[in-house]
Amino acid sequence: MNTVYFILFFGLGLLFGSFFNVVGLRLPQQKSFTNDRSICPNCSHILNWYELIPIFSYIFQRGRCRHCKAKISFIYPVMELVTGFLFAHSYAQLGLSVELILALFLMSMLVIVFVSDMKYMLIPNKVLLFFLPIFIVLRVLEPLEPWWSSIIGATLGFAIIAVIIIVSNGGMGAGDMKLFGVLGIVLGIKKVLLTFFLSCVIGAVIGLLMLWINRIHRKQPIPFGPYIVVAAIVTYFYGDILINWYVSTII
Ligand SMILES: [Zn+2]
Repeated sequence: MNTVYFILFFGLGLLFGSFFNVVGLRLPQQKSFTNDRSICPNCSHILNWYELIPIFSYIFQRGRCRHCKAKISFIYPVMELVTGFLFAHSYAQLGLSVELILALFLMSMLVIVFVSDMKYMLIPNKVLLFFLPIFIVLRVLEPLEPWWSSIIGATLGFAIIAVIIIVSNGGMGAGDMKLFGVLGIVLGIKKVLLTFFLSCVIGAVIGLLMLWINRIHRKQPIPFGPYIVVAAIVTYFYGDILINWYVSTII
């Protein structure tokens, strides 16, 4: 691993993370995220370049708009840092390879889905449709072992959530189902199943914790996307280790 590349990928992640925040927040509202200048949502003051530097602007402005002093959500710098870390980690794990390109696209899609589902309980179709052909091409160039694991993985991911939607009558959404279909192409059979399992575990633990601290009422819907995102990231990087460990404990 080359330290200079590591830092470069981290920096690239910070920049893209800041862009993904905008995409995740504007796309579900049908707002343009390419033409419009970024504005303060409180006072509509157009942000200058020095107010748009990932992390640094937030720190130097002490988390407030320079104009109206309204608080800026800490979600922005957090997602920038997370994306920076995910990009750098992808490079550290995979080196300069086709798989690294796939990993960067996967992390990108997952960060956008996370932001958008947290904020609007919605996984935009446009995001999935943008990444789907990219993943198909990259999995043709860099196939799983065996190659058809992607096809069965996608079908299985889609089908499991479809069954849950029918049985649970709204426990999960169509967005989750499509997301699992796309993930299946990248992850293959075993890992898409592991992602499903992990997302349920994470969802159950966080759901119980939130009930315990009374943050939500029993009937209040919670977005499931963020759990899928976390589970997919863990599985993508550590799925083989987890699966081998699990198999070795039951034999
Ligand atoms: Zn403002």
